[in-house]
Amino acid sequence: MHTSVTVTGIRGLPLIQKGDNLPGLIIDKCALEDGDIICIASTVISKAKGYTRHLKDITPGDRATRIAQKTGEDPRFIQVVLDQACDVLIETPFTLTEVSCGHVGVRSGVDASNVEDGLVITLPPDPMKEADEIREEIKNRTGKECGVIVTDTCGRSFRRGQTGHAIGWSGITAIRDFRGDSDLFGHILEITEEAVVDEIAGFANLMMGESNNGVPAVHFRGIPAWTGHDTIYFRPEEDVIRSALKKV
Ligand code: GDP
Ligand code: MN
Ligand code: MN
Repeated sequence: MHTSVTVTGIRGLPLIQKGDNLPGLIIDKCALEDGDIICIASTVISKAKGYTRHLKDITPGDRATRIAQKTGEDPRFIQVVLDQACDVLIETPFTLTEVSCGHVGVRSGVDASNVEDGLVITLPPDPMKEADEIREEIKNRTGKECGVIVTDTCGRSFRRGQTGHAIGWSGITAIRDFRGDSDLFGHILEITEEAVVDEIAGFANLMMGESNNGVPAVHFRGIPAWTGHDTIYFRPEEDVIRSALKKV
């Protein structure tokens, strides 16, 4: 059986302002069907919800000042990064933190790009809830059952180059669980779990671009349904890399 997927960057969305109804704007630009998946850049969710901070309002504390001296960044920016963090894994050469939803990212995912000068964009504090809200709003307005993924562009350990990652999702599971399936030779798979939401987010990020493309949402049609679970973040006792970092 051949499977083909269509992937469409949603063009023509305005510069998003606080209070905008993102699901409404998106469905005006694209006709949805049951089973479609919509990826939305966390940046525009934060703009619509007002998850932004003015640098002029921020007074950096001692830790932010100390880190900023080493990294050469604006201490007020680092203060926002620390305000967003529930755990700091490393401080330099870049600040790597965990944010409250469980996501680990460089500078807590705080962005100073694609926003007016002096303002920074923070990640939505509960991206799973944002994805649920958007999926429900789409369902209410169109009657269609879609999957929704909230994305952010993230760096990776061990490899150069950023890719899109899923930080929230709704209507789908994060992981496709292959455990118990047999391979082409009849061997039972014991550990294979596939982070499908990240694979889709990666392709969405390709369509979005990073700069002035103006494509904050991407539509997928034709991805075969999968089943699995949502436990994408390692439990502390499983996370060997993180434990090793903490010992450095
Ligand atoms: P992030 O990956 O969530 O941090 O977001 P990016 O800053 O990389 O932006 C992702 C995509 O959304 C790029 O194509 C940007 O040009 C676009 N984008 C960002 N903000 C807006 C906006 O307010 N309106 C529109 N139409 N596009 C935006
Ligand atoms: Mn970002
Ligand atoms: Mn991006």
